[in-house]
Amino acid sequence: MDRLKNKVAIITGGAGGIGAAAGRMFAAQGAKVLLVDRDADALAVVQAEAKHPDIHTFAADVSDEEQTKAYVEAAIEKFGRVDILLANAGIEGDVKPISDYPTATFDQVIAVNVRGVWLGIKHVAEHLVAQGKGSIVVTSSTAGVRGTPGISPYTTSKHAVIGMTKSLALEFAPKGVRINTVNPCPVETRMMRSLEGSMSGQANDTDATKARITKAIPLGRYGDPDDIAKVMLFLASDDASFVTGAVYMADGGSTA
Ligand code: NAD
Repeated sequence: MDRLKNKVAIITGGAGGIGAAAGRMFAAQGAKVLLVDRDADALAVVQAEAKHPDIHTFAADVSDEEQTKAYVEAAIEKFGRVDILLANAGIEGDVKPISDYPTATFDQVIAVNVRGVWLGIKHVAEHLVAQGKGSIVVTSSTAGVRGTPGISPYTTSKHAVIGMTKSLALEFAPKGVRINTVNPCPVETRMMRSLEGSMSGQANDTDATKARITKAIPLGRYGDPDDIAKVMLFLASDDASFVTGAVYMADGGSTA
């Protein structure tokens, strides 16, 4: 119950399926948690349902540098320190071949999934470096290590954060700060419902699409948000004290 005792964690995308699960799990392990999300209403619902005194919320857009500084300052003001960043906010974009893919949507996906992660790390890391200790966990994807037609901006973004993580692992290692990625396969959240809908096309047969995707997962099911949160908890905690620059697949064997 105490794997994150006395630690302060910021979790972006904290109102979404995986972020909220991680928030509940981190708080249950003793952390004080600040869930950050651009969806203030969804944050309020997650906080009310969690019914945990150590789960707090802050509405911000992670792609905006001033709002990034504001959520980091809010954590410092509230808790006096920060130990963990779970840079998890992400969007899927469209499912379209590049010839039809709107450039504006490419820009949005990169702004949230790459710039948002980089900004969060930039403004949290100074606190971790100052205290000579800390852990950053970045949510990548199986899309970060292989290609999938129709989602080239998303795939680009999830590959990009692996390169970012590896470079920063080397920058931060001498300062005692660790950084790793977690790479889920399809997980039971809003994001997969959206992607199933887009991939189903005109037939709109999302059940058949889900069955087809599930067939490619050796463990025979989508991940549950808690399956992913458990790996995030491990990497965030001191149990992973010798792990940095690593790419942790949490994908039911999908990329084995
Ligand atoms: P989700 O849609 O339930 O959660 C994403 C959350 O991010 C939402 O609450 C959304 O409001 C928030 N968000 C989006 N843009 C934001 C912004 N600019 N600023 C602040 N918050 C913002 O999806 P999820 O499945 O929980 O996804 C979490 C992460 O896991 C994402 O990075 C996603 O790419 C990754 N991932 C998900 C799956 C999956 O199958 N669900 C698989 C691999 C990786």
